[in-house]
Amino acid sequence: MLPNDDGEMQLPTPCGNGVLAGLVQRFGSPLFVLDCEVIRRQYRSLASALPGVELHYALKPLPQPAVIDTLASEGSCFDLATTGEVELVRQAGIPPSRCIHTHPIKRDQDIQAAIDFGVKTFVADNPDEIRKFAGYAGRVALLLRVSFRSPAAVVDLSRKFGCDPEAAPGLVELAMSLGLEVIGLSFHEGSQSRLPDTKLRAIESCAAIIRATQGRGMTTPATLDIGGGFPIDYIEPAVPVEEFCAPIRRALAAIPEGTRVVAEPGRFICGPAGTVLTTVMGRAWREGRWWYYLDDGLYGSFSGQLYDHARYPIEPLREADGPRFHSVLAGPTCDSIDVIAEDIELPELQAGDILVGRQMGAYTVASATDFNFFPRARILAVNR
Ligand SMILES: *Cc1c(COP(=O)(O)O)cnc(C)c1O
Repeated sequence: MLPNDDGEMQLPTPCGNGVLAGLVQRFGSPLFVLDCEVIRRQYRSLASALPGVELHYALKPLPQPAVIDTLASEGSCFDLATTGEVELVRQAGIPPSRCIHTHPIKRDQDIQAAIDFGVKTFVADNPDEIRKFAGYAGRVALLLRVSFRSPAAVVDLSRKFGCDPEAAPGLVELAMSLGLEVIGLSFHEGSQSRLPDTKLRAIESCAAIIRATQGRGMTTPATLDIGGGFPIDYIEPAVPVEEFCAPIRRALAAIPEGTRVVAEPGRFICGPAGTVLTTVMGRAWREGRWWYYLDDGLYGSFSGQLYDHARYPIEPLREADGPRFHSVLAGPTCDSIDVIAEDIELPELQAGDILVGRQMGAYTVASATDFNFFPRARILAVNR
């Protein structure tokens, strides 16, 4: 599990640079500041852009108790994928009726752990996986995951999971023959989508499948789970959420009446809430530029640059009006891949200077390691 610091601390949002410097002094570096007020703001803005859609926070990008607690008080539901995530919501006191389990491939022990907790809704995308539920008929409800390739997403998630739309009716029939209830369809086309186009196509296609299978194994009304993927600003700005969701609202207006609609946002909820503070350990002049070696890097909070293909806005914490130079930011480990930025314009820095990385809440500390015994950033939750 990720470490956690209970944030009784109330700070302004956004947090000024002076306050951030004080936090590093008090809590050390590297430091991951998780602003729960931003979690609230993001949840509310997505909820208002998708009225009537039940939001289930996908824990994967930032499985942190402070995030779960904050979202629970906002009325959010949760999207779980592993037994560890089930444990986390159990410990947070989340009622299982507010959780769905959406990993398309599970071991029986994972299914059992989720059922023991009280989860009822699961996802399957192929005959073998459906058969795993045969012994749980009457205790589970299935969503079939359908695949829609998303070349426009930074991370195309339909490559790995989901059945072809044409295969869905056959899977509904198989489930019915095993006495299993299929309550709907789900898809997750990809993460950090630039445009909602794939989602729109997927909603249309799923609506057609729902119409074709209702009365043939699909419950009425059905559930449609439209996944996550809602984008946030990094170095490149994203389409604002209201604009991104407007055509989605129109597409949802055309699906069978009474359909319960669910979304599984992850990045959009937690990405903007995480700020990473990292300190220059030392520097070296190499081939005409300064290399700055930080106490956090690709094996730590910046792991998302590798796994998630994200580029985070990074700036020195100290205001500097002077000239800027082509510089290199490197992580602390002895591995040469551990370079955060080769092409960054920075004022001249010294050992001890702090850099701040913003929009770093999603897929960052969650995939960090302690490689080379450089400890991960301490997680400090504020404005709980
Ligand atoms: C990772 C994941 C999400 C969250 O995706 P974001 O792009 O971060 O919103 C939602 N649903 C499933 C099934 C996932 O695997």
